[in-house]
Amino acid sequence: MNPDLTPSPPSDAVCSICGQHHALEDFEPALGLPDDYLAVPVAEREVRTLRGSDTVCVRTLDDSVRQYYLRCVMQFVVDRDRDCAWGIWVEIAVADYRMVRDRWSDPRQAEQPAFAGRLANALPGYLATKGLRGAVRLTGPTTRPHFVLDRDQDHPLVREQVEGVTRAVVQRWLHDVMA
Ligand SMILES: [Zn+2]
Repeated sequence: MNPDLTPSPPSDAVCSICGQHHALEDFEPALGLPDDYLAVPVAEREVRTLRGSDTVCVRTLDDSVRQYYLRCVMQFVVDRDRDCAWGIWVEIAVADYRMVRDRWSDPRQAEQPAFAGRLANALPGYLATKGLRGAVRLTGPTTRPHFVLDRDQDHPLVREQVEGVTRAVVQRWLHDVMA
């Protein structure tokens, strides 16, 4: 194949940090599991965790504390004309966890009022994102729930979700997630 005929990626897809191509247009940064799940020693996971594709439960060895997590997306407007969504996990209350499971296939689940959650991941490139408060809204049986950070928190991620970000910020996210 003649390398001259290979289409070059759009210039904004070339990372200004490392020079690699991070597929800015079709890749969204995602974190695979809640941090609390990853903190459970591998030998204890069979006993202490319950892991689905969109929900995770973690309990202490004596079962005195149980925590519930839901896979969500956290949307950001990029350069005012498109969206980028982080795939993240949110810790939610047990009552909301049960409600989500009950309504998982319900075509009208988006009518459910939003409920409170806390970001369950440390995002690369940020300090102290785990525990940030927000609202979870179900969006439909085939789409992931949305997580919107509460605006009363003084944190760069909150400001970025309110005000939007530039392509350069998304490029840094992708760089940090791939690193
Ligand atoms: Zn890079």
